[in-house]
Amino acid sequence: MSHPRTVPPSVDVVIVGAGFSGMYLLHKLRELDLTAVVFEAGADVGGTWYWNRYPGARVDVESLAYSYSFSDELEQEYEWQERYPTQPEILKYARHVADRFDLRKDIVFRTRVSAATWDEGAKSWLVRTEHEDAVTARFLVMATGCLSASKMPEIPGLDTFKGATYHTAHWPHEGVDFSGLRVGIIGTGSSGVQSIPVIAEQAADLTVFQRTPAYSLPARNRRLRPDEIKTMKLNYRKFRQAQRESGFGVPTPVPTKSALEVSEAERDAAFEVAWESGSLVNLLTAYKDLAVDQAANDTAKRWIHRKIHDIVSDPQVADDLSPEYPVGTKRPCLDTNYYETYNRPNVHLVNLRRTPLVEVTEKGIRTSEREYEFDAIVYATGFDAMTGALTNVDIRGRDGLSLKETWSAGPRTYLGIGTAGFPNFFMITGPGSPSVLSNMVVSIEQHVDWVTDAIAHLREQGLRVIEPVREAQDAWVDHVNEIASYTLYPKANSWYMGANVPGKPRVFMPYAGGVGEYRKKCDEVAAKGYEGFELTV
Ligand code: NAP
Repeated sequence: MSHPRTVPPSVDVVIVGAGFSGMYLLHKLRELDLTAVVFEAGADVGGTWYWNRYPGARVDVESLAYSYSFSDELEQEYEWQERYPTQPEILKYARHVADRFDLRKDIVFRTRVSAATWDEGAKSWLVRTEHEDAVTARFLVMATGCLSASKMPEIPGLDTFKGATYHTAHWPHEGVDFSGLRVGIIGTGSSGVQSIPVIAEQAADLTVFQRTPAYSLPARNRRLRPDEIKTMKLNYRKFRQAQRESGFGVPTPVPTKSALEVSEAERDAAFEVAWESGSLVNLLTAYKDLAVDQAANDTAKRWIHRKIHDIVSDPQVADDLSPEYPVGTKRPCLDTNYYETYNRPNVHLVNLRRTPLVEVTEKGIRTSEREYEFDAIVYATGFDAMTGALTNVDIRGRDGLSLKETWSAGPRTYLGIGTAGFPNFFMITGPGSPSVLSNMVVSIEQHVDWVTDAIAHLREQGLRVIEPVREAQDAWVDHVNEIASYTLYPKANSWYMGANVPGKPRVFMPYAGGVGEYRKKCDEVAAKGYEGFELTV
């Protein structure tokens, strides 16, 4: 992993982040004979899969679908082991890609970008890092991921606890042995839901502090069979095309029926098939109106509540684990033995709606009811999603315009790719694109392809600068909001809405119109000479 730290003074493109986005972007830029440097805060590639090493961490899109499609050889040679691979297996894949395409020589690791300023005279960016590097670049691309700025809960006393403290997104590389320990965990999103069953098996005692329960479905993970790998490898091109045209980047039949037009028995049977399938998307797409009609959604909600009550033996605990917000409006989870874990004698659920958190103490956690003593506390408290990693860098566009200030009432982008006032600035899977509502790898490849095509187009036309036109951006923001308003998404206090960060504006950030529709729109914009962008010399 050791690697000489050479930072070129000037490149065509500075890329921030060496996750799946930054790696593919670097590869594509090289194909165009453009020079690039990637700055990466971690010590290796992998992004999300580098940082999130908590016990039980897995992807919840199937491995054969959650992988790059840009290289036939890579697709054919890589051997995935499991349906839903573990974090180490995905990190191994990312490392394999870095080695195979010789990416590391243009990646500067352990280096966080701190600031970037547009120089109108030179028509370039000046990018600075925490280590005082300064690089000029014609283009700046934030490949920083949607869920990379982690957050701690806003409670007093976080530093007073004398035991060990962990955040799921910054897990020690050597792992943690919880054997014999009393452990408290705050948070029951995907990271909590995946880690709780694994920690429970090791710890003497595990207390889960839950503010909002998650809807979670069994992953039904297993080893992949050689025949299914072979079939996929034979049909990859067709499958990739279907991914690109689908709603979530995962090919699924388009539902035609309303949940309200079928009998309860038929509906129950359909939900059961989705539950058994071990896929998130199958439940959400069982009926055409689950995402848009409260009464339709209620049928799925009641059905899942019943499932939780069937699995969890204590009816009070089952009640506490049953969410009230519409299914799918906060990110649902895939789990292995999540609800079953609450039947273990060493696992306790604290419902923070009844007894709110008060503070972290020297010995543990105090709620309005009592103090709980722990040897270790795990924070599975999530991220400042979608905008945090962008606004954490001091990005200044035209006339010193600050991205953070410009977005103080919520992010405003054109296609989730660029933002007015910030020339030659691109985001991979930015707010206003399908991003987190999709198979991320599909969305990443689409954005990288679009951005590199745009850069190539500028070069061909002898142009130097591309920037969204404000009116086109306003229209896109209106469109994103309008689509969201047809759905039930705004009904939940989710990180999609920025609701998990106190003071963050409540705006539904991803584009809910689907990956296929979105791609068509982006292709149309490019075909019309980058309509809605201003291209200048
Ligand atoms: P998250 O979904 O935001 O969950 C954070 C949890 O912490 C929530 O239960 C939240 O409660 C709780 N919390 C936050 N602040 C709190 C406070 N002050 N007091 C009490 N509870 C608090 O974060 P995450 O679990 O890390 O997952 C984030 C996203 O990453 C997922 O939705 C998913 O997109 C992705 N992810 C995917 C996988 C996978 O399976 N591949 C695994 C992990 C993460 P509230 O809900 O009440 O805010």
